[in-house]
Amino acid sequence: MTSNPFNITEAQRLDSSKMDDFLRCPRYYFYRHVCGFRHAGQNKDLIFGTCWHLAKEALLQGKTIDEAMDLFLAEWRKHYTEDTDLEMFPKNPGNARTALEQYERQFQHDKHRAVTLRIPGVDGSITSKIATEIYGTVSIGHDLWNDTNANLMFKIDSICEDHSGKKYFVDHKTGSMNSSAYQMAYPLSIQMLTYYHVLCCIYGYENTSGGIVDLTLFKKGGNENLRLTIQRTKDMLNEWLYTARHIHQQVTVNLTMLRNEVSGQQNTPMDCFHKNSRGCTAYNRFCSYGPLCMSWSNPVAEIQKGKIPTDFVIEYWNPMEQKKDSSITLSI
Ligand code: SF4
Repeated sequence: MTSNPFNITEAQRLDSSKMDDFLRCPRYYFYRHVCGFRHAGQNKDLIFGTCWHLAKEALLQGKTIDEAMDLFLAEWRKHYTEDTDLEMFPKNPGNARTALEQYERQFQHDKHRAVTLRIPGVDGSITSKIATEIYGTVSIGHDLWNDTNANLMFKIDSICEDHSGKKYFVDHKTGSMNSSAYQMAYPLSIQMLTYYHVLCCIYGYENTSGGIVDLTLFKKGGNENLRLTIQRTKDMLNEWLYTARHIHQQVTVNLTMLRNEVSGQQNTPMDCFHKNSRGCTAYNRFCSYGPLCMSWSNPVAEIQKGKIPTDFVIEYWNPMEQKKDSSITLSI
């Protein structure tokens, strides 16, 4: 263990999911994104979601369901063998194919039409690419408190065009239950409004119609495909920008406090990244950092002594690392 096991540079690179973690609980953010602690073991929902994204992306690119399922399976089999498929139901390859077929039937007269982006190369050449898997960084303005430019990383599943020529984003989501509370929260989510902001930066608010959450629910009683519309007024998007900058500011202030804590006296309780006990049972399960929170008054000091619980691995979240060779990268 080094004397500074905290990756402040990585923690400062924000995206919507890191911001959500900070809002859930700043101490959670500290463990997950400053220390890089991730619970060891596979997250089945996450792996299934990754495979599903590959399949949906393939459909948007005009590929067949067979081709989409080939991509799904190539990823799925890196993690699970065929003999586990039954116990994985309803999130397994067989039901993924069923859901893809249902989706294609349900929306056969209302297909998303992904736009083509012209991407300039370093040598001045132009490459045309269907707008799926778009990675990038977008400015959310100036963080006055810390006197720094505030940026957010993003990954948009697709940019599409409606019949009036306006652009909208599509985000593929999977779930297990039809919860109106979850669905009502999407138009307020940092993730969706980041994408909305990106489109407004590229095309202008007047040429953007918002976004669609393409939500597929995998349930034992039968799958459901839902399209949830995200639309905000210009004022509401501006208001979101203030919120996003405020969170950026708070993360930066806490990281500055952490720098002081790391180099200073550590015989007092940790005074940055405060705990929020309202976040301990988010997503209907007890937070994986609960045992640490219940026993350490100063995690900085404990971690500097080399104490890392054995059931964690160190792995930082950076959406840019998910990029494929074929992905599009933008800087806005
Ligand atoms: S256990 Fe609760 S207080 Fe501790 S990191 Fe998790 S959410 Fe925060």
